[in-house]
Amino acid sequence: MQEWKRQIQGRLKSRDDLEERFDLTKDEQDFFSGKNQGLELGITPYYFNLIGDVPDDPVRLQCIPRVQERTILPYEIADPLCEKGYSPVPRLIHRYQDRALLLVTGFCSVYCRHCFRRYFTGNREKPVSIEETQAAAAYLARHVEIKELLLSGGDPLTLDDSPLEKLLQVLREARQDLVFRVATRIPVVLPQRITPELVELLASYKPLWLVTQYNHPVELTEQSLKTLNSLIDAGVPVLNQTVLLKGVNDRVEILEELFHRLVDARVKPYYLFQGDLASGTSHFRVPLKQGIEIIKELRSRMSGLSLPVYAVDLPDGGGKVPLTESYLIREEEGWLIFRSIEGEIYKYPVED
Ligand SMILES: *Cc1c(COP(=O)(O)O)cnc(C)c1O
Repeated sequence: MQEWKRQIQGRLKSRDDLEERFDLTKDEQDFFSGKNQGLELGITPYYFNLIGDVPDDPVRLQCIPRVQERTILPYEIADPLCEKGYSPVPRLIHRYQDRALLLVTGFCSVYCRHCFRRYFTGNREKPVSIEETQAAAAYLARHVEIKELLLSGGDPLTLDDSPLEKLLQVLREARQDLVFRVATRIPVVLPQRITPELVELLASYKPLWLVTQYNHPVELTEQSLKTLNSLIDAGVPVLNQTVLLKGVNDRVEILEELFHRLVDARVKPYYLFQGDLASGTSHFRVPLKQGIEIIKELRSRMSGLSLPVYAVDLPDGGGKVPLTESYLIREEEGWLIFRSIEGEIYKYPVED
């Protein structure tokens, strides 16, 4: 059996699996003392082994549930982006004009406790069927305004090579010009999955981009970096989306190191996401105003290449909006008045 399949088979899936390996904290124990009605537990041995010897370890917080997950605030909902309302055919979400998203599978090798799509991943959704794939492909063929297809889930790279190849083949046949964007945490939580065969498969469906989710520098292990290297060398560009998470990465120094190290690995930090209002995730959310302060400080320190766009997905299906400090203050007698990063005032002509 391939190592990545052994990792999936050997996932930690219960309180007992965890307690065989270490002592749970009070918050973790309290989570397990009731019935888990939410997102299931699943952690690859590889990712589990990244957990350090402190209760607030950033990997531990991301994959081991705490009792706070049972608290659901009045404005939190299972499907905070209203994805179900934007689904023209099953599994396909068409929210923005030139791009759509396909929910390839509900399965993940590690269930992130901050997951915003728990309405789907929590439901043990199976891989997309061939009929659903064909219906999605037919929709894409009719809607040529769609230029990019995001393959998401769940984690699409948990599919075995042959169903994945079949999926890409059907979609490619429908639309030769479509840009694929694979959203996956596999390089972070299960780098063993990035076999030479998988790299070759992905590279044969260009243009194809990969979007990962590194949230903390400890996740950039040697093994993980190697997989990034092999993908990029094969012509698969890699972007990263980080989720701003309380206690995990809500400090300027941590994000600065993470983004610098990603750029070193030739990965472009693309988005830094404000936490969505998903049920049971309030313990992970950083106040949005604090997020703006963090990105403002990062802007003053970092290059445009290393700095992602801080964005929030507005509740009720409002869509993504970038969050930035405005440097344009006002307009005055034919001049636009700006505040520079250093806080000084400059002007630029309106010219209209
Ligand atoms: C985030 C998202 C996209 C991609 O948006 P970008 O700003 O291009 O990264 C597409 N579809 C849906 C439904 C999304 O949530």
